[in-house]
Amino acid sequence: MHVLVVEDDPAISGPLVQGLQRNGFDATCVGFGGLVVEALPGKDLVILDLGLPDMDGLEVLKAIRKISDIPVIIATARGDEMDRVVGLEIGADDYVVKPFSVRELAARVRAISRRRVVEAPSEMGQVSLDRNRRSVLVSGEPIDLTAKEFDLLAVLLEEPGRVVPRQELYSRVWDPVWIGSGKTLDVHVAGLRKKLGNSDLIETVRGVGYRYVDLP
Ligand code: CA
Repeated sequence: MHVLVVEDDPAISGPLVQGLQRNGFDATCVGFGGLVVEALPGKDLVILDLGLPDMDGLEVLKAIRKISDIPVIIATARGDEMDRVVGLEIGADDYVVKPFSVRELAARVRAISRRRVVEAPSEMGQVSLDRNRRSVLVSGEPIDLTAKEFDLLAVLLEEPGRVVPRQELYSRVWDPVWIGSGKTLDVHVAGLRKKLGNSDLIETVRGVGYRYVDLP
């Protein structure tokens, strides 16, 4: 998997490229929006800083979308919520808010590449989750989840049996730099269990996180 990093600040791009490489990805960096389109061939995913010296990052995203459906993760500064919303609307697959950790980013890159491979609904026992339609069926019957409950279930279903750490759930379902030890996650898990109609499907691993149990 070859990641194209579009970032003009070498203090960010250097560690980012190295970090991605440490996580098993090939990574190449360009510092100008005008170089992105010609750098796309052979790349599998783009991490796009929206604050570039020569072009608006959102214009770069539009230029990419004209020629390619390559996954794009946009990187925005805290507070640039509007950019984030517009970016997702015009075809970004995900976003990270600066400052973000390489670990967090690598997890998102992996999640996106998995999502791209597995476009078909995830089916685990009686539960079927369709990411495109954002719908969940339990024993063939649709259930009504909130956006957060859906996102939470989608992350847990990526790898049934894997204990997903609380921190990862917070950062992927809520905010990339979520801080705190609140009960928000637990409340959502409780709601999700209730709606799934089987509290054994999501197992609590004390002090670590949650895992989806693949019941026969
Ligand atoms: Ca920048």
